[in-house]
Parts: sequence; structure tokens; C-alpha cells
Amino acid sequence: MPTFLSELSTLLGERYLLRQPADTAPYSLDWRQRYQGKPLAVALPGSVEQVAALVKLCQRHQVAIVPQGGNTSTCGAATPDDSGQQLIVCLRRLQQIRQLDAANHTLTVEAGATLLEVQQAAQAAGYLFPLSLASEGSCQIGGNLSTNAGGVAVLRYGTMRELTLGLEVVLPNGEILHALSGLRKDTTGLDLKQLFIGAEGQLGLITAATLKLFALPSAHATALLGVNDMDAAINCLNGLRQAFGERLSSFEVISHSCQQVITRHRPGQLPFTAPWLLLIELADSGNNILLNEQLVNWLARQNNILDGVIAQSEAERRKLWQLREEISELQKQDGPSIKHDIAVPTSALPAFVRDCAAALQAAFPSVRIVAFGHAGDGNLHYNVSFTRPGNTQLFDDENTVNELVYEQVYRVGGTLAAEHGIGQLKRHWLERYKDPQALTLMRLVKQAWDPQGLMNPGKWLSSHPLGKEDLGFCANTRSLPPQG
Ligand SMILES: Cc1cc2nc3c(=O)[nH]c(=O)nc-3n(C[C@H](O)[C@H](O)[C@H](O)COP(=O)(O)OP(=O)(O)OC[C@H]3O[C@@H](n4cnc5c(N)ncnc54)[C@H](O)[C@@H]3O)c2cc1C
Repeated sequence: MPTFLSELSTLLGERYLLRQPADTAPYSLDWRQRYQGKPLAVALPGSVEQVAALVKLCQRHQVAIVPQGGNTSTCGAATPDDSGQQLIVCLRRLQQIRQLDAANHTLTVEAGATLLEVQQAAQAAGYLFPLSLASEGSCQIGGNLSTNAGGVAVLRYGTMRELTLGLEVVLPNGEILHALSGLRKDTTGLDLKQLFIGAEGQLGLITAATLKLFALPSAHATALLGVNDMDAAINCLNGLRQAFGERLSSFEVISHSCQQVITRHRPGQLPFTAPWLLLIELADSGNNILLNEQLVNWLARQNNILDGVIAQSEAERRKLWQLREEISELQKQDGPSIKHDIAVPTSALPAFVRDCAAALQAAFPSVRIVAFGHAGDGNLHYNVSFTRPGNTQLFDDENTVNELVYEQVYRVGGTLAAEHGIGQLKRHWLERYKDPQALTLMRLVKQAWDPQGLMNPGKWLSSHPLGKEDLGFCANTRSLPPQG
């Protein structure tokens, strides 16, 4: 290893190779403080050529690479194991906007730019880049691509998969795949970029992407509504879809116990509570007053809305969104929970919410379910904990809780990973629920591209069989009682 590190230091410059525990610490622990790794070092390359040379060096010395973006993964996807042998590679220094092609509505950006920086660059030129997540100030485009990130505007604009036209990738052999296309149509063979989107850094290091831009909406109508149950929520969703078509850009839900978390940490901020709150937004390129009037008229015809407020200004709109965006952070402060990021067909959400709660309550009478998320996409962050803060006993039953939840999810044709990915947390569950042929095909791709398994090993594409230790917590990485 000393030879490898001195060659790497010569390549990057010593200041861009972090080796001291105090310097590597922020990269070694995940956002939830659940996975604690011990990297060999953290490399901060400054150009695509340096990334390619670094990967070739790693090949020569057989050093495993853990790509890391903003380190906001909620499932340990960017954390190394504790062997002290894996190199974290963070592309934060690659943050240039390479091109904004206004006439083509595209923006080409390097992978280390944060999502917020990309949104701001688009906005400064009069365009919208619509991906929007609560972690947008920290997460990076490379991480967004590698997790196929979703967020609050998927209903209208799609996930990162739909928002991406081209990629530049350093492959596991150190060669560069030049596929930064700005084309919306191209049938010259397989669409290889899609293999890297959602691959969680296991097939290569994404260094740049060409992303779609959209017209900036000039009008917004944003409302917080209360309904009695998920049936009423889905009726409301479908009514809004019928009435407003693609102008419906967000449809978020907040369960009653989640409202209690908000109220505990932000007393007086929620204008009202209800069994379920809906945060909905319409957007178009017309007139604000007109759009708001149309929403008010539509709401006046509904008979299952218990209460509601409509934002009267941009400041009020921001305040409503802030309440929604803070939930993950507030829940982290509220104590640990067993987290799920599930999606089911929207038509099945009411049955899922009902049946899953019944199954959990039967098994764990004191269970508290904090559910919130992007119900317009069928996606719920479904977090399970005890009512008594500080009680960690529930984690002894984590496998049972997961099993109960995932059985209900798959019974209605859902998925166990909607937008946060698999990482280390859900590896063994993927093994159980994913179609075996699909898993075999994915691993064949991995084997062909990365035969030595040097790209982000220990995650779900690894070919080594799962051991007993993989059940519940990941192998190798030291697992901690989660903080969030
Ligand atoms: C408060 C909070 C709210 C969130 N809300 C949402 C949400 O609404 N929707 C959503 O989808 N997610 C959400 N997330 C999850 C997380 O922010 C996303 O998964 C995000 O896309 C991860 O980006 P990152 O840069 O932090 O990646 P990291 O966490 O650093 O890495 C994630 C994965 O990408 C790989 N990777 C990173 N960069 C590269 C690269 N350049 N090349 C190849 N592989 C790479 C890593 O190896 C890892 O497997 C939230 C997280 C938090 C903490």
C-alpha cells in the first residue's frame, strides 16, 4: 500500500489525498450514522483525466474504490468497509458547468456539482432543472444519477433516469466512456447510460452528465389540505390529475404521527392537523392569480377535504415546503426508526397503508408509524419506531418488521427501494424479492465490466454469496445504532 499511496499522491498532489483519521472521518460515516467504515484514504481528483489515471492505478494495485458524492445516502451505499483497504473517491472538485445549450434545453455539468448548484445555474439562465430533494444543498449530480434520485417533482418530470440525455463515465478499467449526448432521440444500439443510472457506483465513476432543462413556471398554486384517510388522498390525486393534467407537479402526504413529529420540533408551524395532510402544487407558464383561482374553484367542489390553506405569496409557499423538507431531519432528531422507502401502485396505497399498519400493530402493539412522502408516485417513506424515545429494542426485531412491511409491499406489486437505492441496508432483501433472472443479468453486466469487483464492493451487485452476517446488518462495515 505505501507504493500505491505515494503514486496516488504524486498523481493528485498531497493536499488532495486525505489520510489522517480526522480528515477522513466525515467521509467514513453515513448520514444516518448507521454505517461506520475505515477507508485507506480519501482521494479528491480534479479532472476526468485524473479520475481515469486513478482508476488505472487502482487496477494495477488491486485497490477497491468506493465512489462518494455528498454522502447523503440513507442506506450506506457510499460507506466503505472497515478493512482500511478501500479508497473513497469523491468528485467534489469536478463541479464545472461545461455547457448550457439554451436552444437545446440542456445543461452539461460535472458530477461533483451539488444539485442546488445545478438548479441555480439553470435558473440563472431562465430555465428549470426540476429534480428537487431535501438534501439538494449537499447531494451531488453523480450521487443523484447513481441512485436514480426522485424527490418532489417526479409526478410531472420523472426521476433522474428521465432527466438525463448523456453521460461521461470512467469505467472500471480506467477507460473513458464518452456518451455526453444532447439528443432526445438516438436508436444507435443499446442505451448504455441507463445501466449506470441507479448502479450505485458499482459499474464506474460518472464524471459528467447532460441533463434536460425545462421552462421556468411563472405561476404556482400550492396548498396544504387535510383528509381523513388514504382513500380520500388518492381520490384527491386522481381528481387533480383529471382537472389539471401535467400542471400537477407535486403531491406529497404527511401522516398524523409525522405531523406530531413536526409539531414537537416546530411548535405552531403547522396551520392545522388531520389524519393525513396533503401538500400539493400546480405549476404552469400562465398567470398566478388565474391558477390559484382555478385551484380554489376545484377545491370548492370537493366534499372530502377536511381543512386547507393555499399559499398567498412566495414566502408562504416556501414556508409550506420547508415544513415538508425538514421532516427527515426532524425525525432524525426525534430518535431512531426502522426506515423503508417503498413504492406501490397509487391505486394500492390505501390497502397497503391499512393492511401494513394492521400487521405491524398485531405484532408490535406499541408501534408508531411515521409515514410521509411522494404519494403521487406511490412512494412512501414508511418509518417504524416505538412511541418511547430512546428505546432501541425495536432494532432487535428489525428483520421481523422489515419482513412484515415488505410482504405487504410485494403483495400489491410494489418495490422495497423507490428512490433511495439498496446500498448495504437492503442487499439481502433485494436477494429475496428481486426476480432471480433479473439479478443474474445484472451480475453478468457487473462481471463483464468489473471482473475483479473493484467498484464499490460489498454492495448489492457483489458476486460473493451472502453470509449469515448479512442478515440485518451488513458484513464488514461496523454497524451502529442508527441516529435517524
Ligand atoms: C434529508 C434527506 C432527504 C432526502 N430526500 C430524498 C428524496 O426526496 N429523493 C431521493 O431520491 N433521495 C433523497 N435522499 C437520499 C439522497 O440524498 C439521494 O440518494 C442522493 O441522490 C444521494 O446523492 P449523494 O451525492 O449524497 O450520493 P452519496 O450518498 O455520496 O452516494 C450514493 C451512491 O452513489 C454513488 N456515487 C456517488 N457519486 C458517484 C459518481 N460520481 N459516480 C458513480 N457513483 C457515485 C455512491 O457510491 C453510492 O452508491 C434524501 C437524503 C436525505 C439525507
